[in-house]
Amino acid sequence: MRCPYCAHGDSKVVDSRDSETGEAIRRRRECLSCKRRFTTYERVESVPLYVVKKDGRREEFDRHKLLGGLLTATKKREVAPARLEALVEEIENALRGRGSSEIPSRELGELVMERLRDIDEIAYVRFASVYRSFKDMADMRATIEQLLAQPPGTRRPEPRRARPARPGEGELPLDLGK
Ligand SMILES: [Zn+2]
Repeated sequence: MRCPYCAHGDSKVVDSRDSETGEAIRRRRECLSCKRRFTTYERVESVPLYVVKKDGRREEFDRHKLLGGLLTATKKREVAPARLEALVEEIENALRGRGSSEIPSRELGELVMERLRDIDEIAYVRFASVYRSFKDMADMRATIEQLLAQPPGTRRPEPRRARPARPGEGELPLDLGK
């Protein structure tokens, strides 16, 4: 955010609040060079994010749909909806922080599962069963064993699966329960 007075590139946020419409975030910033203050309105919501499916189709990221999928995965589990809303928010922020308006559906699914796993293990397995399209019990068991071997909080920062993707895999995370 460039300073309107001296054009310096760095500023710090001194105050931040939602505007009345809720569509923009109003920020008071202070230039790190000349120390003068200025206001910015950042319209985070107006930039659409796209999920790129395996066949190349792009679909606009839909937080309500994702939340719907998470609610289905956590049905009858003791997970507060507010927790899921926070998760969706976190995901959206992570997507917006990537610097690209597109994300492969597979990556999105992994982002969600990584976090869901820390919230509820049953929900994680349910979500994974749809997202990873388990083909049989052995496949499902492998995922559960992996979960047991690395309980939430103990896993490495970048867990990666060894097996290659199957056709059609990773296409469903946004369609759960729909
Ligand atoms: Zn300045």
